Amino acid sequence: PLPVDDFDIGDVLGEGSFGSVCQATLRSTGIAYAVKIIDKVHAKRHGGLAQVKNEKDILIKLDHPNIIRLHSTFADEDHLYIVLEHASGGELFQHIKRLGACHLSCARWLAAELVNALEYMHSKGVLHRDLKPENILLDEQGHIKLVDFGSARHVGSAEQYVRFVGTAEYVSPEVLDDRDATEASDLWALGCILFQMLSGAPPFRADSEYLTFKRIEELDYSFPEAFPEDARLLVNALLQTSPSQRLGAGFEAGGYPELKAHPFFT
Ligand code: ADP
Ligand code: MG
Ligand code: MG
Repeated sequence: PLPVDDFDIGDVLGEGSFGSVCQATLRSTGIAYAVKIIDKVHAKRHGGLAQVKNEKDILIKLDHPNIIRLHSTFADEDHLYIVLEHASGGELFQHIKRLGACHLSCARWLAAELVNALEYMHSKGVLHRDLKPENILLDEQGHIKLVDFGSARHVGSAEQYVRFVGTAEYVSPEVLDDRDATEASDLWALGCILFQMLSGAPPFRADSEYLTFKRIEELDYSFPEAFPEDARLLVNALLQTSPSQRLGAGFEAGGYPELKAHPFFT
């Protein structure tokens, strides 16, 4: 019997670049998981096998309540399987879309959990590099669970340098400029996500990728009128073109005390 036969595969939870993510119940325990099912041929053709291996190698080292937990991985002739903890609350993306924006208290809460996840991840030397509301899931209680570590890297690893892997709207100016991502590049994305949670759209959205890149390079963003003042200050502190100027930049083992002490969180 194949390992996949230990599971009842259920509904599709999301579409990934190399296959689907489905609900999967482990028959022996009745516990629900999410299984990322990757088509080997398709992944190989699009250079995705390395990403899948990378996702596994990184997730195996992470253990935090706001980061999705890896249960197991296996393969059969045609597919690779990554079995993950199931986040049943859906994508932050969908919630923003449905609500137009998050309530201030909710955005504060979610941003604080994101900071905790980043602090932990960065303390383990891991950069996410593709932070965006599609990759931030919620669990049953509304706690965040970061997913999608396919583009993640260890700080300073030889293959850290890969030209722009993230998503146009969240990419930092230094990565656009062909420099390595650092912890501060994830902080930039955090600034974009906080802006989006409170306004409904990311700060540098434009009609084309080219125009988005141009807006990022020119630091061309502006707040809608109703955007709360303390959140403006935090977004401005994170959306600094120079990575070293971003609030919290220069991550040391001590984590992000200045970021956590920002008036937005207090
Ligand atoms: P890709 O690298 O192709 O973007 P993701 O890991 O981001 O793949 O997964 C794609 C989508 O599948 C996510 O945006 C989410 O909607 C869903 N998904 C992924 N992991 C889980 C999970 N553990 N629980 C629930 N849904 C998930
Ligand atoms: Mg994704
Ligand atoms: Mg991915």
